[in-house]
Amino acid sequence: MADTGKKEKDILKLLPAPQRSPKFTSRRIGIHTSTAGGVANAAERAYRLGCNTFQIFSSSPRQWKPYQLACSQCEEMTRLRQKYDLHPLVIHANYLVNLAGGNAEFHAKSIAAFRGEVERALALGAEFLVLHPGSFRGGSREEGLQRAALAIEQSVDGLDLAGDNLRVLIENTAGSEFSLGGNFEQVAELLYLLSNFVPSGACIDTCHTHVAGYDIVSEAGFADTVDQLDRTVGLKNVYVWHCNDAKAERGSKLDRHQHIGKGSIGLKTFRRLLNDPRMAHAAFIAETPIDEPLDDLTNVNALKKLVRR
Ligand SMILES: [Zn+2]
Ligand SMILES: [Zn+2]
Repeated sequence: MADTGKKEKDILKLLPAPQRSPKFTSRRIGIHTSTAGGVANAAERAYRLGCNTFQIFSSSPRQWKPYQLACSQCEEMTRLRQKYDLHPLVIHANYLVNLAGGNAEFHAKSIAAFRGEVERALALGAEFLVLHPGSFRGGSREEGLQRAALAIEQSVDGLDLAGDNLRVLIENTAGSEFSLGGNFEQVAELLYLLSNFVPSGACIDTCHTHVAGYDIVSEAGFADTVDQLDRTVGLKNVYVWHCNDAKAERGSKLDRHQHIGKGSIGLKTFRRLLNDPRMAHAAFIAETPIDEPLDDLTNVNALKKLVRR
């Protein structure tokens, strides 16, 4: 068949009917979803993909431009989430935000941008706001951690996160040279510093964990890694798992996400994770690539199929 050159990519057009299987799982499973055409459209897309939770960006992830959400969009989001039982709503913060860095101008810009993230998360009624702890280039790791904690405290000043049930989740990272959060101890340390002034928790990414060097592939390795996570962060504090397979090898520090079951992690790890009763409270969210138009559907279904019940 001749390739017409342009592939339709919007799930709203590709999936006119919801793909929710009648026998849905006991776990909360979703995917990072596009907000094209308005933030509430993401809820409709997530529903059609068969999700019962989802993640979005509340503004353009690689721009500084401040962004205000229309009230009507926030109300529509709440309405659709109730109608479709989409819970929790996870927002991923802008990638430019670096709260651990030493450059004063960039730091101030990051604090303002992160405050905007918190305000939009509150307006949307989101449960979780995921943040990468940042890069400490130009200072020591310890300074970076202290700076990040203080910056988060400043960003949320005067905002009532607890009253609105919003939690800031610190995500573990792939462990590249100056990035904070490349091991569970660093995530735990930041959570400890945050514990007095902002509701917080962790988001653990399977790809980041694997390329940072933890063994989550062998059975014994998985058990040991989960043990280490429990002793540091505490499993009950992991509210979101980013379920991504990895293109790169364990320990490579290269953050390249792959389709579920198609990378160097493999299906067994996701099966163990999804069926572990200690993780039952968490949301499992894929951030997998879109190489083919229906890849999001394939990845959501791949995760759902692994749940025993
Ligand atoms: Zn992630
Ligand atoms: Zn990643």
